[in-house]
Amino acid sequence: MCTLEDQLEDGVSRFSEGPTAAVSAQAKAASADLKLPHADSRGWNSFLKGVLRKSWALDLTGRLTARDRVETLLYHGLCPGSNRDPRFPKLMPVKEFEEHVRTCARYSRPLPLKQALQPGVSGVVITFDDGYANNFDLVFPVLEKYRCPATIFLTTGFLDRSTPLWSDWLESVIMNAPPKNTLFQWRDLSLTLQLANHSQRTQIICEMRRELRALTIAEIQEFLRALETHLCVRYDWDTLPELLRPLTWDQVRTMRASGLISFGAHTVSHPVLSRCSEEIQTLEILESKRRIEQELGEECAFFAYPYGKGDDYTEITKRIVTDAGFKFALTAESGSTKPSSCNLYEVPRWGADITLNELSFLVAGGPAITGYLRGNEQH
Ligand SMILES: [Zn+2]
Repeated sequence: MCTLEDQLEDGVSRFSEGPTAAVSAQAKAASADLKLPHADSRGWNSFLKGVLRKSWALDLTGRLTARDRVETLLYHGLCPGSNRDPRFPKLMPVKEFEEHVRTCARYSRPLPLKQALQPGVSGVVITFDDGYANNFDLVFPVLEKYRCPATIFLTTGFLDRSTPLWSDWLESVIMNAPPKNTLFQWRDLSLTLQLANHSQRTQIICEMRRELRALTIAEIQEFLRALETHLCVRYDWDTLPELLRPLTWDQVRTMRASGLISFGAHTVSHPVLSRCSEEIQTLEILESKRRIEQELGEECAFFAYPYGKGDDYTEITKRIVTDAGFKFALTAESGSTKPSSCNLYEVPRWGADITLNELSFLVAGGPAITGYLRGNEQH
């Protein structure tokens, strides 16, 4: 698995939101026998970062680069304890997240999103996407303990229990299907599904997630309903694993009332927006904003593009987001932000499933130093 420095070298994000990344992480977590990501591939660079972290050097770097530089971190959710749960590879152990928060506070300054994206400001912004209930049960207590601000981006159809996150829906159907080999036909597709064991199911989920991303959200939902019928399995809100349940609006209001947590929109059904018509994109974006404003009674000013890579949204998407009145829109492309000159509708975020050494290097200004040395600072 690549290191943060690899990302900086080739400018390509590999810590990404999205189904492929999640399944990839799942496979790696399984094969690594529950070791944390990167644990067996830290190498020389990570060793050096570890040495730096234990010395004064990163504290000094943080102070030297602490001007007009914001690092935004992207998480999804947490699981209890200090070990990964192989069933939920995208969830970080709460103990690990607590160390992340302490590291951010030591080498930088955690800030609310609205305050961070102002010219000249420097700090780190913590964000969570999708709206899992574990954000209330596990994330919020840590943020309260350290008085650390964060922004959560809500997929409103998920909170309203009207539209499952399709990636979780697919996983639920495949994982709960009877153990058999079967031929599934949908439209002109014929798929042989081998469901005899866990690794075959994981492989199918990985491949289907990759293929389904090319379809519209309506087609994905039609596909999943047909798959449910074929396999005699139903996605059931009431029997969802606790860690994959959606937040309730009461939990959202409780977090908002703390003054620590702000909320942004993340569409209604989590589609790949670039695959949607302009009409559907408008509906997804405006309706998610409207629902959050209706439930919270205040303006919803932030948006995060689902999946968030450059080909997951278009110029039309950005125009709709701008016209809707959002102040900022966040991507999942890796990079630092220079608030005085950044594009406020394409604010990059670092996938935060990284080691403490990598996180320390990142929030203490590593990208700024690396960019300065290369004459190619990422904004
Ligand atoms: Zn998302």
